[in-house]
Amino acid sequence: MAEELLYEGKAKRIYASERADQVVMEFKDDATALNGQKRATIEEKGIINRAFTVRLFRYLESERIPTHLLAEIDERRLLVRRLTMIGLEVVVRNRVAGSLATRTGLAEGTVLDRPVVEFYLKDDALGDPLLNDDHIRVLGMADEETVLRMRQMALRINRLLEEFFAARALILVDFKLEFGRTPTQEDGGVVLADEITPDTCRLWDRTTFEKFDKDRFRRDLGGVIEGYREAWKRVQQ
Ligand code: 5GP
Repeated sequence: MAEELLYEGKAKRIYASERADQVVMEFKDDATALNGQKRATIEEKGIINRAFTVRLFRYLESERIPTHLLAEIDERRLLVRRLTMIGLEVVVRNRVAGSLATRTGLAEGTVLDRPVVEFYLKDDALGDPLLNDDHIRVLGMADEETVLRMRQMALRINRLLEEFFAARALILVDFKLEFGRTPTQEDGGVVLADEITPDTCRLWDRTTFEKFDKDRFRRDLGGVIEGYREAWKRVQQ
C-alpha cells in the first residue's frame, strides 16, 4: 500500500508513517527560486540534502538542540517527529547577502558586527514577507515567549554552525530555519524542524569566497551540483 502523502512542498514531501506521532520526510531533486518562477530538477540534490541535514541535526542534537530527526530510512527519506509547524521562516545572518543587500544597499559580503535575526511569513502567495514582532503578534503566529525562544535557539544554532563550518574552511553567511511545536511541553515546546542544507544556507569558501550553495542556481552561476558536492565533502570531514 502506498504511503499517504500528507504534504508536498517545493523540495520535500511528507508522508504518514505507522505511528501518529511520526512522519516520513522525503527530499526531492526539485529546485525553485524567485518565488517559484524559476524551476529545475537537480539530479542528486535530494540525496545530498538528506545526508547534509542528518549530519548537522545530529551535531546540533549532541549540543542539546532539540530537533525533529528520529532515524534514517534510506538515501532520500528520514523519519521525523510530527510537529505543528510554526508558519515562520527564521533567518540568521552573519554577513550581508541576498535580500539584506537589496533592502539596505549594503555591499554583499559585509561582515555584520553581530548576527541579524529576521522572521518571514512562510506564504508563497504573499512572497514570504518580512515580519516584525508586532506583525507576528497581529497574525497570532506565535506568542512573545515562543518568538523569544526561537530567536535564542536560532542564535545558539548560529554559533554552533559557524564554528562547525569554519573548521571546514567555510563561511556561514546566512541560513533559514523552521520550527515546530511539540504536542506536549517536552523540549521547551519548540523543536528545530525542516532541513539545514545548501538550499537553505549560504556557504562560501573561506579564502576564495566561492559559493557552494543554492545561489549557484538562483544566479545562474553553473556548477550547482558540484557546489553541493563540495559542501557535502567538507561537512563530512
Ligand atoms: P534571503 O532573504 O537573503 O533571500 O535569504 C537568506 C537566507 O535564508 C539564505 O541562506 C537563503 O538560502 C535562506 N532562505 C530564505 N528564504 C528561503 C526559502 O524560502 N527557501 C529556502 N530554501 N531558503 C530560504
